[in-house]
Amino acid sequence: MLGKIVIANRGEIALRILRACRELGIKAVAVHSEADRDLKHVRLADESVCIGPAPSKESYLNVPAIISAAEVTDAVAIHPGYGFLSENADFAEKVNQSGFIFIGPRPETIRLMGDKVSAIQTMKKAGVPCLPGSDGPLGDDSEETLRIARAIGFPVIIKAAGGGGGRGMRVVHSEAALHSSISLTRAEAENAFGNDMVYMEKFLDNPRHIEFQVLADSHGNMVHLGERDCSIQRRHQKVIEEAPALGISEAKRQEMGERCVQACREIRYLGAGTFEFLYQDDAFYFIEMNTRIQVEHPVTEMVTGFDIVKEQLRIAAGETLSIKQSDVVVRGHAIECRINAEDPYNFMPSPGLIEQFHMPGGPGIRVETHIYNGYKVPPYYDSMIGKLIAHGENRASALARMRMALNEMVIGGIKCNIPLLLNVINDAAFGAGAQNIHYLEQKLGTKH
Ligand code: ADP
Repeated sequence: MLGKIVIANRGEIALRILRACRELGIKAVAVHSEADRDLKHVRLADESVCIGPAPSKESYLNVPAIISAAEVTDAVAIHPGYGFLSENADFAEKVNQSGFIFIGPRPETIRLMGDKVSAIQTMKKAGVPCLPGSDGPLGDDSEETLRIARAIGFPVIIKAAGGGGGRGMRVVHSEAALHSSISLTRAEAENAFGNDMVYMEKFLDNPRHIEFQVLADSHGNMVHLGERDCSIQRRHQKVIEEAPALGISEAKRQEMGERCVQACREIRYLGAGTFEFLYQDDAFYFIEMNTRIQVEHPVTEMVTGFDIVKEQLRIAAGETLSIKQSDVVVRGHAIECRINAEDPYNFMPSPGLIEQFHMPGGPGIRVETHIYNGYKVPPYYDSMIGKLIAHGENRASALARMRMALNEMVIGGIKCNIPLLLNVINDAAFGAGAQNIHYLEQKLGTKH
């Protein structure tokens, strides 16, 4: 097993990784910004190193500082968590070149999947179903782009090849708006991602977001752990996730899972990964692959009983995957709510002092959070301060437990989105499973 690792992240995921290290007897180094000295995992880690001032650019994205933290502490590997440098191929490469293990896929795989255009082309070749689209980046020839859009059929969506976090996308409903939309998305993409490459695909009007979790070791063993439904979104960002997805038969789950595993084989995938699909009218369409641990991984852990973060660490240590496909059985139902420090109605971030915090509990309840009484949520980072996960024998029981837990949980001193989450959990249409990616914005009345 790995002797000591650096956790190059913050918040709940850093704590989650620390806990997995503890279970496996791995020593952990917390690296943190000047604003994050009071993070729970920094207090609990074996060692900690301050890597720079509060802004992410100077700390959590500061590659030389993170690598030197690994050097001075004699660590052997670096876990990037999610966000920050987790899908940065150059970082993974530098980690390897500096003599450390990057806990994730090979740099070339991250690069291939990080560019959505090459990811889609690769998946198509591997037999994974994709949306009708431009089959490559859009050029400057406006006649040609119009021809492509007509062939796909309006509405279409223009997406940045380097996009992420729900940004860099624009829906186009008519020919008249096509060229200005392409220019605008291109300019935004250049600005946000330093890459103005855009592509086009069919915009589905009523899909669900369903994704498959995979694990692959360095000996060629690969499994899928079934799917998650992440259709409850706001501004293309997930808010509530669940596993399994309603209405997916065991045969379809196995067929899609096997296709993902086959695609992993073709790209020599390593570690934990997620294939994201849109699902409409009983058909799956690949949209992108995430080459890292995801926020919503606990729902899969709850229904399969496997610990995905521990598997990541074992795989990085060169061990053989401890799970065979025939071991994977989905039991019951799990739902996750993302707890954000924000106004539940206008979504303005609400950092500040947590004056009161009461954790919910009871059968089937799991809380992943780094907050505690007296913790001050800094204003510099993502507003997610925790995740609440409920597992039950079926969806109704998971929902009942989630409802109870959300009512029990008290976060005082700052605003948080618990009222909004309760509103969704109590909604009859959500209870009946009628959601799609537009459900939340329609409910909020912000869908244009
Ligand atoms: P990101 O990398 O920014 O997360 P994705 O490609 O994963 O972007 O898309 C995020 C979300 O945007 C999807 O879950 C879905 O809600 C919406 N979306 C993306 N592509 C399409 C499409 N072709 N049709 C309809 N909705 C889409």
